[in-house]
Amino acid sequence: MTPTGLSTGGSTTAKRTVLVSGAGISGLASAYWLHRPGCAVTVVEKAGAPRDGGYPIDVRGTATEVVRRMGILPHLRDAHIDSRRCTFLDADGREVASLSPRAVAGGVEGQDLEVRRGDLAAILYARVRDDVAFLFGDSVDTLDQSGQGVDVTFRSGRRRTFDLVVGADGTHSRTRESVFGPEEQFHRCLGYCFALFTMPNTPGLSREVMVWNAPGRAAALYAVGDKDELHALLAFHRPQPPVEVLRSPGAQRELVATVFAGAGWEVPGMVDAMGDADDLFFDTAGQIRMPRWSSGRVALVGDAAYAPSFLTGQGTSLALVGAYMLADALATHRDHTAAFAAYENGVRPFVALNQALVGDGAATLLPLTARALEQRDTRLRSLVTLPAATARPAHSALVLPDFTPVR
Ligand SMILES: Cc1cc2nc3c(=O)[nH]c(=O)nc-3n(C[C@H](O)[C@H](O)[C@H](O)COP(=O)(O)OP(=O)(O)OC[C@H]3O[C@@H](n4cnc5c(N)ncnc54)[C@H](O)[C@@H]3O)c2cc1C
Repeated sequence: MTPTGLSTGGSTTAKRTVLVSGAGISGLASAYWLHRPGCAVTVVEKAGAPRDGGYPIDVRGTATEVVRRMGILPHLRDAHIDSRRCTFLDADGREVASLSPRAVAGGVEGQDLEVRRGDLAAILYARVRDDVAFLFGDSVDTLDQSGQGVDVTFRSGRRRTFDLVVGADGTHSRTRESVFGPEEQFHRCLGYCFALFTMPNTPGLSREVMVWNAPGRAAALYAVGDKDELHALLAFHRPQPPVEVLRSPGAQRELVATVFAGAGWEVPGMVDAMGDADDLFFDTAGQIRMPRWSSGRVALVGDAAYAPSFLTGQGTSLALVGAYMLADALATHRDHTAAFAAYENGVRPFVALNQALVGDGAATLLPLTARALEQRDTRLRSLVTLPAATARPAHSALVLPDFTPVR
């Protein structure tokens, strides 16, 4: 065992070739853990480089232990945002409650981490880039499992055969679609849409989050540091996904502007800034729920298999834990079918508990009625005077095994 609790033995895995599709959080973490016992790992990413940007994300509970075992905890501590407060505002922009972000999300002061998504991706990439082959600007076109391995044709025209393929290509996973079928079967729509973008810090916020609400609508501004830029979120209730706008940024901007017309506080400025933003990310809030996460020699990890939605704040933690557990199962079992079954048995209860947190997130960020909003505000005011919240049990509901050598 290495000091990380990891075996680097493994005669069988030494010969395994694994293709990971997606260089996001779950893909980079999978690459790291699969390489450690000796797999030859190739990562294919459709973007030209590890993708930057995105709202700050949380690493909590069991996932903190994964990053500690990867040796990147000190880097993440350096990158930790350490927001000072989260202030909730009513429809007229008056303060309802101002409290520690940990009190709202159930985090643990001094243990949980909040980092820019791009910082985490860069730290993970730096950890694996010398050990793993990367194919940027390419993606899988076809997967054929009829032979002894998985025959892969890439968009670029390359052809390769791998022992195993790991689909780590996010909520709208193409690997999932080609192996398991269309997304509609597995996507559970939560009834909300959201738009994320960056905008100038004209309100002059510093290391804090401001959340404005009216029934069924939320606007949030997130100052990550003392920098000139803010992360903006506009979210709203929409029981049926607006399929017609999902492929058109122009239509997305129009829909958001219509929904937030006449809103108070900084919202008109946010809507204007969205019009100029070159990094608008619009989607429906949803979860991926699948009866199985593997088929033959292909397994899914992270959002591709079990996206919990941003309303839980647990997408990144599930991705990190899932990557560790998948690689551990493959290092433990010679037979990939047994390994995939062990991965699933080990992670599924943890995923279920964390996906169930979505109700708490929606009730806090997006109460649908005036009554629900009033109740939320009363709860928030009581949190100001109560002792600091404790961690959500779901965040730490999985105890990581030591990384096991091949038997
Ligand atoms: C640019 C970006 C911004 C994000 N911003 C937020 C945010 O603000 N808040 C939040 O809660 N979550 C955000 N997320 C999602 C969050 O990162 C995930 O929920 C979580 O980290 C789980 O990660 P994942 O690796 O499973 O999926 P993702 O982080 O989505 O990564 C998937 C990766 O696969 C790549 N990919 C997709 N399709 C293909 C394909 N066909 N072939 C090859 N590669 C492919 C993508 O480019 C991406 O790099 C963002 C994701 C991305 C990619």
